[in-house]
Amino acid sequence: MPEVVFHGNLAELVPCRAKTPPRRAFPRAVKDLLETLGIPHTEIGKIMINSRESDPFSPVNFEDRVEVFPHTLPRPSPWGQTGLPSSVTGIAFFADNNVAGAGKLLRLIGFDTAMEPGLNDKGIAERANEEKRVVLSRDRNLLKRRLVLFGCLVRSNVPWKQAAEIVLQYDLARFSAPFSRCVPCNTLLVPVGKEKVMDRLPPMTRLHYDSFNICPSCGRIYWRGSHIDRILARLEPILGNYQASE
Ligand SMILES: [Zn+2]
Repeated sequence: MPEVVFHGNLAELVPCRAKTPPRRAFPRAVKDLLETLGIPHTEIGKIMINSRESDPFSPVNFEDRVEVFPHTLPRPSPWGQTGLPSSVTGIAFFADNNVAGAGKLLRLIGFDTAMEPGLNDKGIAERANEEKRVVLSRDRNLLKRRLVLFGCLVRSNVPWKQAAEIVLQYDLARFSAPFSRCVPCNTLLVPVGKEKVMDRLPPMTRLHYDSFNICPSCGRIYWRGSHIDRILARLEPILGNYQASE
């Protein structure tokens, strides 16, 4: 059977019960072999077959030696291997239900993150593909779908660590814009005059604050109150250099 060498943190994704397909199943695309072994194509960076760099669809034979590497960072996205969009509004995610907490945190730090609790895997893959969104999930089967061109298997199960992982994987910290987006509905906030929202403000807020933003979709009003510093302190580890392996 092919000898498969996993580099970086890929080995930990291979379950010990993973079975190499039988001889009659070869040759097959190397991507299929790696997905059978538990690694979604979204996690695969460079592939070498018999020391020759190969693409995911290259055929692998039963006697071959395969080396597989994780992505170098930042991960590829719909904007190319290294080119992140110049504007923070250019990168877009689709957060699966199993990383909804991280999805909300990504919105809080300014990143376009779609979420739709009722949508099944097929629907997520289709929508992400159509809207050029990077799929974020802990579900490998979702990330193995053909329509998922860009995705990230989230390793941690703690929302702030998940958000930190994603920020690190796509080198996003420098593009973050906390409090620029409505957290419940993902819409970009716009400034609104105090006089327009006066009657909806709590008395103390009316007294102490003059600058407000509003969500054009749901009408929520945002202001930089005393709670902001507390939230910023909580965002620090997400925008810092947290690594999933720590
Ligand atoms: Zn809103």
